[in-house]
Amino acid sequence: MTPASLPLRWIAAVLLLVVFPLTLWWVGASAQDAAFRDLRERGAAKLDLYRFSLQGELQKFEVLPRILAEEAEVVQLVRDGDRQGRSARVSRFLERFNDIAGASDTYVMDRTGLTLAASNWNSPSPFVGERFAFRPYFQQALDGQAGRYHALGTTSQRRGYYFSYPISHHGEIVGVAAVKVAAERLEELLAHEPAKVIVTDAPGVIFLSTSPQWVFRTLRPLDQEAHAQLRASRQYGDGELRPLRILHEEYRARGTRLMTIQEPGASEPKPDGVDRAVTYLVQTTQVPYAGWIVHLLTDIQPVRSQVITQVVLVGVLMAVFVFALGFVYQRRVILLERIEFQRRAREASEESEANTRSLIRNTRAGLVTTAADGSVAFINPTAQDLFGTDSERVTGTPFRELLVPECRGEFDAWLQRARRAPEQLRDPLECEALHAGGSRFPVELAVSHMELKGVGRFLVTIHDLTERKRAEEALRRAHGELEERVRLRTSDLTEANRRLQEEIAERRRAEEILRQAQDELVQAGKLAAIGQMSAGITHELNQPLAAIRAYTDNARVLLERQRPEDAVSNLGHILELTDRMAQITAHLKSFARKSSGRAVPVALGEVIDRALQLLSSHTKLERFQIQREKPAAGEVWVLGDALRLEQVALNILKNAMDALAASEQRIIRIRIERKGGRGVLRVRDSGSGIAPEQLPNVFDPFFTTKDVNEGLGLGLSISMGIVREFGGTIRARNPLGGGCEFTIELPLAETGHGAATAREGTA
Ligand code: ADP
Repeated sequence: MTPASLPLRWIAAVLLLVVFPLTLWWVGASAQDAAFRDLRERGAAKLDLYRFSLQGELQKFEVLPRILAEEAEVVQLVRDGDRQGRSARVSRFLERFNDIAGASDTYVMDRTGLTLAASNWNSPSPFVGERFAFRPYFQQALDGQAGRYHALGTTSQRRGYYFSYPISHHGEIVGVAAVKVAAERLEELLAHEPAKVIVTDAPGVIFLSTSPQWVFRTLRPLDQEAHAQLRASRQYGDGELRPLRILHEEYRARGTRLMTIQEPGASEPKPDGVDRAVTYLVQTTQVPYAGWIVHLLTDIQPVRSQVITQVVLVGVLMAVFVFALGFVYQRRVILLERIEFQRRAREASEESEANTRSLIRNTRAGLVTTAADGSVAFINPTAQDLFGTDSERVTGTPFRELLVPECRGEFDAWLQRARRAPEQLRDPLECEALHAGGSRFPVELAVSHMELKGVGRFLVTIHDLTERKRAEEALRRAHGELEERVRLRTSDLTEANRRLQEEIAERRRAEEILRQAQDELVQAGKLAAIGQMSAGITHELNQPLAAIRAYTDNARVLLERQRPEDAVSNLGHILELTDRMAQITAHLKSFARKSSGRAVPVALGEVIDRALQLLSSHTKLERFQIQREKPAAGEVWVLGDALRLEQVALNILKNAMDALAASEQRIIRIRIERKGGRGVLRVRDSGSGIAPEQLPNVFDPFFTTKDVNEGLGLGLSISMGIVREFGGTIRARNPLGGGCEFTIELPLAETGHGAATAREGTA
């Protein structure tokens, strides 16, 4: 925005919002004033004219009844009545008289108001024989005065103005002569122009009008009294005197009176009634002679049109003025902007040139421009420093001579390519340059083609690579060292890895051997146990064998004696005994078998049951008081192998029984419970316990305090191996209160698993 534009905008705003509307309003108001003034002046002149015309016209007829009253024949007629065809003669005389005078009707009445002769004797409704005594003009004449009256004719039903005069004979009034002037004749005086002219009486009833529909309408509603009077005098006949529909009435300055009137005759009130309403300028003048008021009603529509036309014209002129102003203003703004733009462009160009110069001078890259033939045209200070030379010495010499001889051929080819396809971006050229002092240094050259003042040139950018090369070399060295270090470290690691692999393999082998040894130990333990048990088992098996033998012998004798029933009973006993033997051997077999080693849910109660069952084959369990505490919440299931856990339980119970051999009181308490996520089995005996110094050794293999025939010292070590295999622990201690307690803990199996197979112990 230019500084001048602000006041200009304000001026435009004030013009548009204040000055122009005010001007238009003023133009409208004064145009209207002028138009009304013109109308008023013309109207006043016309009204004067109508007043004089009407009065003059009426006065012409005023003398006529007076002339008739002097006529002898007329006097005789009213004095003596109709004798010898006098009425007809007088009527014919009146007819001629009427014609000559231009009146509507001429007639004479006797004292009673009875018409004796009339000019219209020959018309369809003659006055002769009618009585007009009720008319005021008749009364006025009887009173000896010249009468004047306007009314609607009762016989003719035509409006007219009546003049009357008394007919006297020797000073006595004997009759009345009357002349009627037709209203139409008077209306003709008014009907010269487009404006409406109406004539009203004092109460406002329209008697004459240039529009026939307006006749006998009133300007304002009549009061009751006026109505009654009119009806009595029958001045305007029997018809209804309805007021005009005046929609609006307004008085303005300088006597301007406006009235909006619904056109009478249009069936009112109709929706389109308003359309038929016209606004008039109303002017009036009095005609005192007749007691009339003449109204001139001029339609003001032309005034409105005139005003609108003037306002529109002025509005258009103002709009043209505004547009012209706007146009000039825009031209001026554009001009100013153009000047401003040129100034800025000049500044920018100057600034850019200065920038370029300072850039070239201060850049850290060496810049050289060469002519098309490759000779140096310009060299910036950085490049001068690089090559150890100055501008005067090198300007005009070929650029290639600043390079070492080996590089010049390559440079020429590279420049050739740039010349052939200047628009292509090309890779920078790395080569060696010559310092004026004779030393060489690595550089990187980049070239771009440019037009300077219409002449093609090359801009060569030179970067000193000395630092970069040094850094690259350092990097390369560091990289090499690192690689060597990694290589050495990797070979160490490979060796360590190989050794580790070997160790692992060895460890595996040892584990395998250990496992085998353990398995064998377990097996040995079992076999040892079987060996120990064999004496007992032999006894267990021998007893039933002896019994079977006895039963068999008995059976044979009974059969020989023909007692087969008894023999059958014996055979039954034999069967029972063989069953028992089969049970014993089955246990032994399952005990001796190698187990699978897979962990499955096992019920601890069942393990104890089976162990006790096995023991019962060679031990008299009733010698012991075995107390079992059942777990509170049902069977305790642990993860393990049933056979192997049975073996553990067997070992521990067997040791307890051995420990109790010499005791008076032989109590073995077995408790199964849950603790944390584990199942716990405690076996406590009331024996003498383990000597404290031996306590750490009891789980060692071949540790025993028993005779060679009684113990191998493998039971607890095998048991420990089994329990550990399933992720459990086994501990021995001498509890307070004496004896010895073994505690085995094993991971619980998922609750409810295998619960269907749970069995109660048989202790
Ligand atoms: P063995 O029973 O063949 O001796 P074990 O390994 O089963 O081998 O037992 C090792 C030793 O631990 C036994 O010789 C015994 O001294 C001791 N021992 C085991 N259980 C008990 C116990 N309940 N009371 C006293 N000593 C026990």
